[in-house]
Amino acid sequence: MADKRDYYEVLGVSKNATDDEIKRAYRKLAKKYHPDLNKEPDAAEKFKEVNEANEVLSDPKKRQAYDQFGFAGVDPQAAGGNGFGGGFSGFSSGNFSDFGDIFGDIFGSGMGGFSSSSRSRAKQGPQKGEDVFRRISISFMDACFGKTETLNLTFDEQCEHCHGTGAESPSDIENCPRCHGTGYVESVQQSLFGMMRTQSPCPDCHGTGKHVRKACHVCHGQGYTRKTSPVEIKIPAGISSGQQLRVAGKGSRGSNGGPNGDLYIEINVQPHKYFVRDGKDIYLDIPVSAVDATIGTSVDVPTIDGDVSMKIPAGTQDGTKLRLKGKGVVDLRGGKKGDEIVTVRIKVNDDLSRKEKELYKQLQELQESSKSETLWTKFKNQFK
Ligand SMILES: [Zn+2]
Ligand SMILES: [Zn+2]
Repeated sequence: MADKRDYYEVLGVSKNATDDEIKRAYRKLAKKYHPDLNKEPDAAEKFKEVNEANEVLSDPKKRQAYDQFGFAGVDPQAAGGNGFGGGFSGFSSGNFSDFGDIFGDIFGSGMGGFSSSSRSRAKQGPQKGEDVFRRISISFMDACFGKTETLNLTFDEQCEHCHGTGAESPSDIENCPRCHGTGYVESVQQSLFGMMRTQSPCPDCHGTGKHVRKACHVCHGQGYTRKTSPVEIKIPAGISSGQQLRVAGKGSRGSNGGPNGDLYIEINVQPHKYFVRDGKDIYLDIPVSAVDATIGTSVDVPTIDGDVSMKIPAGTQDGTKLRLKGKGVVDLRGGKKGDEIVTVRIKVNDDLSRKEKELYKQLQELQESSKSETLWTKFKNQFK
């Protein structure tokens, strides 16, 4: 997959951008790069990129899919063979309590607060923060054997002193005087249809209905502290490109005392120079000389676990596939390990020593004088 820029980055908006912000950013960029107006050589390409980003982000359904699964969620071609429908579940290993499932509960979890309409913001109850997405690249071998990756994550943590209330002590919290604790204010407007009564979130307490008399001295009334700390991410053995890991509570902060959203990490596995992986199986081409293929031999074949001795039977043809059982990748779901499938590629030596050349010549003469059919005469006889 070619390197594609994140759609939010393309439009220059944040992950939490409202529909309006996206619309505005799109209009500005579309104008800037429109090929009729911009004669730069890469304008057309940029224009296309901007349009593609807008097509996804302006559509709530597509945007949600993109947020959850990245490009794989909106472009079926980019999804590769990773099968999102796999129904993975239960990855949380015992000592990794803040580590979630792969896929399993992605489908179940409601994506907190997509449309940032003012109505949903006016809710008084605690709301979970939005999920955050990130991609990381790991090596082929790390995907095979798993790895603990330490990421420096910046996230907001609920203030320990005030537990997110922003108040120095619980007695410093009172009902908002403006809205009397309801969280919204009513306004009456004259309209064509008479008096219109509208409710909107209280501008003083932003819908919480609470007023803090004395702000918490630790977080200065914010209710949270911004923190950057190393977080260990356990990448399970057998993971494939496009799969996601959930790190609970490391997303955007919640509102009104709600918990943080989660962090989803999409894994990108870098290709190996020789091994090719398909699910649990590993494929490898090995060169075998014509002589070895003819009379048979034994070779030390590289596998992800190191060299394994393998017999090349006499008379092996080019393209023959030999299987090394259990030399593939661990099953993510705990099943049997995959195999390594070795494809024999017969290579002819084009740099013979004098002695070798002599022996080949003798062999050729022997075949020509032999009474039995050679490969060539057998082939030619079919044209008669
Ligand atoms: Zn505090
Ligand atoms: Zn209020």
